[in-house]
Formats: sequence, C-alpha cells, structure tokens
Amino acid sequence: MKKIALCLGLAGTLAAAFAGNEANPDAVELAPLPMPMEFSRDMDRPVAFDASATIAVECPDAGAAAWLTRHFADWYGSQAPKVAAAAGADLPGGEEAYSIAAGTSGVKVAANTLAGVRWAAYTLRQLAIAKRGTFRTEGRILPTLKVADRPHLAFRAVHLCWFPEVRPQQMERAIRLAALLKFNYAIIEPWGMYASAKHPWWHWPNPTMTKEEVRRLVAIGRDLGITLVPQINAYGHATSSRSCTMKHAMLDLQPAYEPLFEPGGWNWCLSNPETQRVLRELIAEMHDDFGHPPFFHLGCDEAQPPSCPECRKSPYAELVCRHITGLADFVKARGARAMIWHDMLLERGDPRWKGYVHHGTKTTAALADTLPKDVIICDWQYSYGNMKEVRKEWPTMAYFKEKGFPVAGCPWMNYNAMKPMADYVAKIGGFGFIETTWHHLRGWDWVQMYRYGSAAAWGTSVPPGTPMYDTSFAIALRLVGQDMKTTDYLDTGHLNNQVPPGWWVDN
Ligand SMILES: [Zn+2]
Repeated sequence: MKKIALCLGLAGTLAAAFAGNEANPDAVELAPLPMPMEFSRDMDRPVAFDASATIAVECPDAGAAAWLTRHFADWYGSQAPKVAAAAGADLPGGEEAYSIAAGTSGVKVAANTLAGVRWAAYTLRQLAIAKRGTFRTEGRILPTLKVADRPHLAFRAVHLCWFPEVRPQQMERAIRLAALLKFNYAIIEPWGMYASAKHPWWHWPNPTMTKEEVRRLVAIGRDLGITLVPQINAYGHATSSRSCTMKHAMLDLQPAYEPLFEPGGWNWCLSNPETQRVLRELIAEMHDDFGHPPFFHLGCDEAQPPSCPECRKSPYAELVCRHITGLADFVKARGARAMIWHDMLLERGDPRWKGYVHHGTKTTAALADTLPKDVIICDWQYSYGNMKEVRKEWPTMAYFKEKGFPVAGCPWMNYNAMKPMADYVAKIGGFGFIETTWHHLRGWDWVQMYRYGSAAAWGTSVPPGTPMYDTSFAIALRLVGQDMKTTDYLDTGHLNNQVPPGWWVDN
C-alpha cells in the first residue's frame, strides 16, 4: 500500500495536499484545525483509540494525565482510552509545544506543560472517528499519526462581541471552539449585555451576560485552556452599540446619565470625574467576575473630539492621556495589563499610514509618546477596500514596537493577510495576535475567520480550495455542541437557521 502523508515543514509550506491510495485514488485524509507544523497521517493504517488503548503521556506536570483522563471520560464515556503517565525522555521544546505518535506500538503524547497536553488532546480529538461497520459507536480509531507542533505566537486571542442579537449559547460555542482551535485568550466585548450589579443602568434591558453566566464561562475556559478577558469601551464607542444604528444602550432609555457622555453620546465625557469613578467601578466588577485575568481591554477606538464646555477647557491630548493612564494604572493595581485599540494613536493625515487604519488627530497621535509603555496596543488592520490584499509589512506595528509598546496584530476578514501578519508580529518581537470577529460570528465568515486566524497564530497556512462543507470545521463545531449537550436546533451548524424564518410566511 502506498504511504499517504501530508507534511508541513516548519515554514508551513504545503508539500502535498493529499494523495489517495492504490485502491481509491480519490480518497482524502482528515486534518485538524489549525494545521500542525509537522503532520503526517495514514488512515489506511488505523490505530485503536478506545477502551483497549492506553495513551502514554510524557509531561512534567503531574496534573496533565489526570486532566486527560477526566476529559477522555467526558468525551468518550465507557469507550475512553486509558491514560498512563510516562517518563519524559524526549519532550518537545517550548512551553506549549507538543508531539503525538500513534502507530502499532500505541499512542504517545509528549509536552512540557498541561497547556501542551491540551493542544495534543484537541488534535487527537479532531482526528478520532468512530470505528467502522457498526450501527452505533463502539469505540474510535485514529490514523497512524506523527505530529510535532508549537504555536507561532504566545498570545493568541479571538475578540468576541456579545450583541443583544447573539444567543448566549453562541458565545459559549465561540469560546469552546476557539479553545479547540488552540486560541488561548478570548476578549469579550459586552455591547450593553453585561448585567452590572453596581451600575444596572449600564446595559440594555434583560441582559444575558449575567454574573452567573460570566463565571460559568470563565470556569469552562480555564478548564479548556482559554482565558477570558473583559472589555469596556472607555473612550469612544461609549454607546455600546454599532455607530451605524445610532442606538445607545444607556441614553436611549435612561437620559438621566447624560452628563457622563459627550453630547450625542458617542464618547464618554472625559472631564467629568464621575466618568472615571463609574468606569473604575465597572472595571473592578468585571475583573472580579472574570476571575482576575492578566489583561483588561479598554477599547478606545474610533473616538470623536469632545464638544462639551468642560472638556473644551483642556488640551485634548492631555485630557485623553489623563483618562486612559488613570484607567491603565487602576487596571495595573489590580494585577492586570491594559489593552487598547491603536487607531487614535495614528494621525489621520500622516502619509506614513496611508492605506492603513488610522483615525487620530495630531493631538491624540501624541499619546504614542505619553501613554504608559506597558499598555498593549492592539493594531487592527483590515485591508479595507480590498479584503483580498496580501501585505507583508505593517509599518504601524513596527512604529508602536519602536515606541516601546507591546503590539498585537489584529485582522478581521482579510484572510490572505493573516499568515503574513502573524509572521510580521513574530518577526518584530510583537506581543501577539487577535482575530476580531465583530458582527460576523456566523456562517462562512465564522468558518473562515477561525480557520485562517488559528492557522496564522500557529504558523501554518490554510490549504487552498476549502469546500463549502468543510469536514474539519464541521467535526470541530459538532464536538463543541456535543460538549454543551445541545438540544436546540438553533444552536447547531454555523447558522441558527438554514432558511430565513419568514421564508414560508410571505414572499
Ligand atoms: Zn466633556
């Protein structure tokens, strides 16, 4: 039998997409998401992955084998493979690196940390299929397998928006799927859905992002290896709503809180000391609910210059700097680091940033010299105007790095740019990678953002020609639903409905 293998070199180049075998030249091989750095497998030589099998785990963390045993029991019940801790003779280099070997001598996993063992488990899980030829599942098989993998960047996040229109189940699915695709952070932006106890006016009626739900999701994330990071838009975007709708989560229904905002409500009023008090109290409350994560995102994108008489009294740059620095210091005192979007720190008319996202004025651009250098700059570059554009360089990111800031590259749906962007961040010694999703966390957009984003963060490419029914994504998404014990039709697949709900009503 001809050996079937897909090998990716460390550079992530595709040596061979797949090849069939002699009996069936059309046959294809399964692949996990994201594609591992080095990966070969052969489904013509399946390996038992059931109660008869023992998975040898080499990891200095004694808790790793216990974690694997517990999760195999959750995933596979009585058909779970056994787990045995083994001596770590040949551990892969790197904190989150892992290796897998599956063949006639059994299945072996090696990693330096529990994090690495988790990523190995997610690779195995995506590749394990039911044994063939029976009515119901009677155990699973793996292809003969050799994997060596390590992340390209240490900080790999998705940014998720908890809109009123998004089902809370969808937020949980997005978090669980991000973990399964080996992102290790999820930044959660509440969009008026966080049910603050301290400031119950700071949300839409009937918010679904309750304290109980946040704490439950944080605990799930911690177990799965993904840390949830809260966000508050502490400068512009104070409406907690998309600008194109002119909705305002607070002022539309509760005009009493008008002094906290600039006229029109898009920005917070930065000269009002009550604004700083309220934001600090909200930050403290969310940071507590999120279990004191090491980061807190303060938003700060797409702000407008102030118009109120008090804010007009001070130079704009000083006002903004005092505001953001005050909040960043507050976050720091709580043991976390502040993150902000980058665009107000680049002047709109500066020719250096032509073709790149930049929304600042001359005065807000001065913040790049005055803000504390431990604030993480999240540089979102979406290749507007041509989402298919492929860039190799992001001078804005190099600029922030040179200014002394940690900088994260943040793509959206500019898929072709994701791998080069992650490579560029790694090249300049940047902080990390944040895949933003906004209001596109559904359908094919969701599939592509997660596929391309996770691959870029792990240093590999997405093979070209993904079919509409993407087997790898379908498997991963279904595993998430099974973990959640989903029973509702709306919470399956990548869309709530397969036909618009009104389709059968009128035309
Ligand atoms: Zn003001």
